[in-house]
Amino acid sequence: MHEGSWGLSHTRVPTESRPGHVALIAGFYEDVSAVAKGWKENPVEFDSLINESKYTWSWGSPDILTMFAKGAYGDHVFTYTYDADSEDFGAHDVTKLDTWVFDKVKEFFHAARNNQSLFSKLNEEKIVFFLHLLGIDTNGHAHRPSSREYKDNIKLVDAGMKEMVSILEHFYGNDGKTAFIFTSDHGMTDWGSHGAGHPSETLTPFVTWGAGIKYPQKVSAQKFDDAFLKEWRLESWKRQDIHQADIAPLMASLIGVPFPLNSVGILPVDYLNNTDLFKAESMFTNAIQILEQFKVKMTQKKEVTLPFLFIPFKLLPESKQLNIVRKARSYIKQRKYDEAVSLCKELIHLALKGLSYYHTYDRFFLAINVVLGFLGWTSYAFLLIIKSHFNLTRGVNKEVKKPSHLLSCSCIAIGVFVAFFLLLQDCPWTYYIYCLLPVPIWYAVLREFQVIQDFVTLLLTVPPSYFVGYLLVFILGIEILVLSFFYRYMLTAGLLAFAGWPFITQLWTRAKSISLSWIFFSLLLAAFPLMPVVGRKPDIFLVMGAGLLVLLLSLCVLTSLIKRKDSFINEELLLHLFQMLSVVLSMCVTYSTHSSLRKKQGLPLLNQIISWLILAFSLVLPLLSPTSLFERLFSILLSLMSTYILLSTGYEALFPLVLSCLMFVWIQVEQETLQQRGISCKQKVTSVRFTCSTDITQFRQLYLDDVRRAFFLVFFLVTAFFGTGNIASVNSFDLASVYCFLTVFSPFMMGALMMWKILIPFVLVMCAFEAVQLTTQLSSKSLFLMVLVISDIMALHFFFLVKDYGSWLDIGTSISHYVIVMSMTIVLVFLNGLAHLLTTKKLRLCGKPKSHLI
Ligand SMILES: [Zn+2]
Ligand SMILES: [Zn+2]
Repeated sequence: MHEGSWGLSHTRVPTESRPGHVALIAGFYEDVSAVAKGWKENPVEFDSLINESKYTWSWGSPDILTMFAKGAYGDHVFTYTYDADSEDFGAHDVTKLDTWVFDKVKEFFHAARNNQSLFSKLNEEKIVFFLHLLGIDTNGHAHRPSSREYKDNIKLVDAGMKEMVSILEHFYGNDGKTAFIFTSDHGMTDWGSHGAGHPSETLTPFVTWGAGIKYPQKVSAQKFDDAFLKEWRLESWKRQDIHQADIAPLMASLIGVPFPLNSVGILPVDYLNNTDLFKAESMFTNAIQILEQFKVKMTQKKEVTLPFLFIPFKLLPESKQLNIVRKARSYIKQRKYDEAVSLCKELIHLALKGLSYYHTYDRFFLAINVVLGFLGWTSYAFLLIIKSHFNLTRGVNKEVKKPSHLLSCSCIAIGVFVAFFLLLQDCPWTYYIYCLLPVPIWYAVLREFQVIQDFVTLLLTVPPSYFVGYLLVFILGIEILVLSFFYRYMLTAGLLAFAGWPFITQLWTRAKSISLSWIFFSLLLAAFPLMPVVGRKPDIFLVMGAGLLVLLLSLCVLTSLIKRKDSFINEELLLHLFQMLSVVLSMCVTYSTHSSLRKKQGLPLLNQIISWLILAFSLVLPLLSPTSLFERLFSILLSLMSTYILLSTGYEALFPLVLSCLMFVWIQVEQETLQQRGISCKQKVTSVRFTCSTDITQFRQLYLDDVRRAFFLVFFLVTAFFGTGNIASVNSFDLASVYCFLTVFSPFMMGALMMWKILIPFVLVMCAFEAVQLTTQLSSKSLFLMVLVISDIMALHFFFLVKDYGSWLDIGTSISHYVIVMSMTIVLVFLNGLAHLLTTKKLRLCGKPKSHLI
């Protein structure tokens, strides 16, 4: 209000410390691929403000400071760092990360008075002091931004800044030649994380004052989309928003050094308190500097591309570059400074566009190759399914050999041609993989030409209206799955459609009670994706309610079991009661832990021991239960629920319960549909037992219903994942949910527990599906192939949606969507193994070697 100018600085994703500082100090947004190198080493050498300065003194964390010291030439950058160990989250008071910096700066200026050489260095021009204050970020991670510790830390930094300013001004005798810039590398979410693209992460403060900076400007009205001005009561003080990379050229301009070489920042001239001539000349230099990067990039690309294939950037040909530069010069000569500035801005925007054009020049070519590979791979999996399940080939093997010889020759020829083409253009080795991989895949597909032909003739016998109808339903289903990655409520839409499904088939007329319970649980489950993401609204009473429901359900099951079996074996009854007891125990532990933590009394040791015991037993107890289908599944549910309750903080505790109720109904529904098809099913569901035989090898043809089953499985897996959370809740864990197990920060343990919490719904779905596979005699190999086809089609979608610049649906999310879908098949194999183990293994306490295999 009294001294400087301000605004919001907009950062880009990923909102991590390293890319944030690179944008601030070097003026460019680091390539996302640096993620793969853990943000540690410099993927490329780059120029920075610190390198351009005469001298720079910096204090703070070793991770950040050494990054800029390393890239600097000569010894004009001095760094003072503490050891990396002091950044421990568990440490008692991390504000010492900030007080350390303040103390060192104080000592430094005190010592400078008695050190002649240092004193003369400090009185040079073009020098930078960089104070890196890590305390607030560390406190936010450890205690969340709403905590007292966080707010106290802000107070401390505020007071520290005041002292620093007065020390500097005192040292230089109030000469008014120091400019101050106060900003941050990134923000933080309410739950203490950063990295993604939420506004609370991408918006940072930008406050600047001192030499060369405009004084506060009063304005009557200003328009911004957000409510910050009102919230901060700054409506009448001019706010000027900037991009984070613009800060680098601003700082360079303030101390009068060249713009950093790789900077793409645009000088925010409105912040400058200087002559119009200076602003116009600076803007002109800025434009030339960015134009030069564009020219270099174009030359590099031109050199490695075959001349007749090179397509230059059309919006900025050489004649236009010269024209704009000449015009801007003449404007400056004629003292038309505003026109010159806006012309330079236009040139900068065109050059930046061209820069990104050449940066992504090969994208289209590579994308075509990746798509080709995908399509080939998907059709190969599809062919495998058809080949092993339809009796298509009718003994016409003679003709097959001849075309395959021709085919292999032409494939080799294409491969050699592609490799030669890439060699001529001097492409990196990864290009060879992208371009050559589709060749053998398509060779494998085309070799099965006979099968394709037979399949097409088979399709032609199906009435086209049927065919188109099924295709539409299939496409719609996949689209819903893809959309549900972005909008969780699409899962609700899908579940509503599931609820209506019995009416389309004859299920409704055949089995009313099963249909009704299917509809009921589908609708109930449909409510979950509409609720907020896990951890935002803790409510311990909902967790207790979930526990009570589990107990009620298990009482019902218990009575029905006792009724059905006259000779209910003591051992089984005991196990059932023991599992109920563990649910009761976990409810008690959760309740007492949360109330004790609320009173700041820490985690009671007894609670911690019980929690770990319950977790350990939950994996063993189901193996003791009988292998008959329902008893085993229910025992698994009880065990997993007792762990899940311990890991829950709110409504999500109800989720696995509702999900597995739907799964139970699903098993019965599948049994019904099987009978509908007229397949005689000797066994009733209740009498089916899980068996140890590795796979149902019994050969049976594949029906359309099996495709639907595979789709249901994928849909339920996606629901298990997104039903209570989204990507943000996966990469930024809610630590409160592991407090029953440990409260000391240990990333590995906490990560493992959170992983288990995410996996529990998956395990429930997979165990149920194991039962479905068993009752419908579906072979798991063809099931995996079908899931592979579905997930590949989804992956192709996400491949086109991968982004390399940020908004709310940002880079990180788009890449992790892609990775999740791609790894779905692998995860499925692992989960299937786990479910198989859980459902079929039988442990015996008394060691009676009684075979249960028939
Ligand atoms: Zn940071
Ligand atoms: Zn951080």
